[in-house]
Amino acid sequence: MKDKVIIFSAPSGSGKSTVVSHLLGLHPEFEFSVSATSRAPRGSEKDGVEYYFLSPERFRELIGEDAFVEWEEVYHDKFYGTLKKEVERIWAKGHVIIFDVDVKGGVSLKKYFGDKAMSFLIKAPSVDVLHKRLIGRGTDTHEAIAERVAKAASELEFAEGKFDYVLVNDDLATALKEAEEAVDAFLKDRT
Ligand code: ADP
Ligand code: 5GP
Repeated sequence: MKDKVIIFSAPSGSGKSTVVSHLLGLHPEFEFSVSATSRAPRGSEKDGVEYYFLSPERFRELIGEDAFVEWEEVYHDKFYGTLKKEVERIWAKGHVIIFDVDVKGGVSLKKYFGDKAMSFLIKAPSVDVLHKRLIGRGTDTHEAIAERVAKAASELEFAEGKFDYVLVNDDLATALKEAEEAVDAFLKDRT
């Protein structure tokens, strides 16, 4: 299972983290790619666990040093990116890399990794449901939720036809099972 990567992308609130944590719990050989970001930690988030938290200045410096596989300014002044070093760190252990990135990032990663990658687009059943889930998650301010929901429609439009697999996350148990099966098929195919 050398040099494989699995990419999950979706508008925020669609269920990426939920699906990714489920798969990480099932597969000890999967490892989460910790992205770098210039946004502040939320709640109990720790540097090096959920993200490598950097200042915007340091983030820009690393862009200048060509340290990223891909990076995006996902929200105004909030940079997110995948460090080349992070990919090397995980592959050195022989682990399969799991990415949780925004839609543009997912498309860039798929282009970069090609056949080594399976890319998933996760979709909530509707933007209205997505809005309700973000409110229910209780981690974001009203403004942040409005910004995320406003971005969802254009992200989905951009994503059209660019992913290997579209996973509709309506009933959670069904979506998790579907993700498990698709991932298993991909890894079996390419060992
Ligand atoms: P993302 O990582 O894409 O932003 P999350 O995984 O955090 O999304 O999911 C957003 C919220 O919706 C969370 O509170 C999560 O528990 C909830 N959620 C995820 N999938 C479902 C589902 N199928 N049905 C109902 N709630 C869900
Ligand atoms: P959050 O602030 O909720 O943690 O993440 C906001 C968005 O940034 C999510 O859609 C998340 O998937 C995305 N994201 C996280 N890491 C990366 C990354 O390395 N690259 C890109 N392009 N997006 C990322």
